[in-house]
Amino acid sequence: MIPILSEQNIIQTGKVRNAICPNCKQKDSLEYRVYGGVIRILFIPTLPNKRITKVFCTACEKEFQLKEFNDSIKQTIKYEKSKKPIKFPIWQFSGIIILISILSFGIYTGIQMNNLEKVYILEPKKNDIYKVNINGQYSTLKVSNITKDSIFVLLNQFTLNSYKGLDEINIDENYTTIKSFSRKDILTLYNENTIYEIIRE
Ligand SMILES: [Zn+2]
Repeated sequence: MIPILSEQNIIQTGKVRNAICPNCKQKDSLEYRVYGGVIRILFIPTLPNKRITKVFCTACEKEFQLKEFNDSIKQTIKYEKSKKPIKFPIWQFSGIIILISILSFGIYTGIQMNNLEKVYILEPKKNDIYKVNINGQYSTLKVSNITKDSIFVLLNQFTLNSYKGLDEINIDENYTTIKSFSRKDILTLYNENTIYEIIRE
């Protein structure tokens, strides 16, 4: 269970002029209070909390919801608040910034991997491993020899129903038969995603 903490504190107060407390009928005793704070996920400030405005009477110490007041008072409070806008401090977004950084790094790494694979498929090297998916049957091929026109690969004698476990069958003893492909054929297999991953040590 990931701990999620929601903090709410008073971040701004101000007088509500020319208003009467609905509870004790005192004049000019009302102030507005803006509550704000931060939501912490795993103790990291992740997002600013929702801002809530309430009204407090300094005479009878009762706190009211803003919706209990008429539009005129709501407008007064809105105007007072607009005179001193509260910014969302950047640190309250730390968690989101961290998350975006991690995601961008992941996506960037993914793109880099893809670019590398394009180089690998065009310039194969001995011992490159091709992970293949042929109609849901997964296996591996191992490049054993490269000539000007052809690529010779060793076929793995095992296939699996899932991509999981391919690393376990990728052992020398399993590569028993050899088959040659034209470079064009290999490229086609890659482009149609039959060869869906290339591993180069
Ligand atoms: Zn009052």
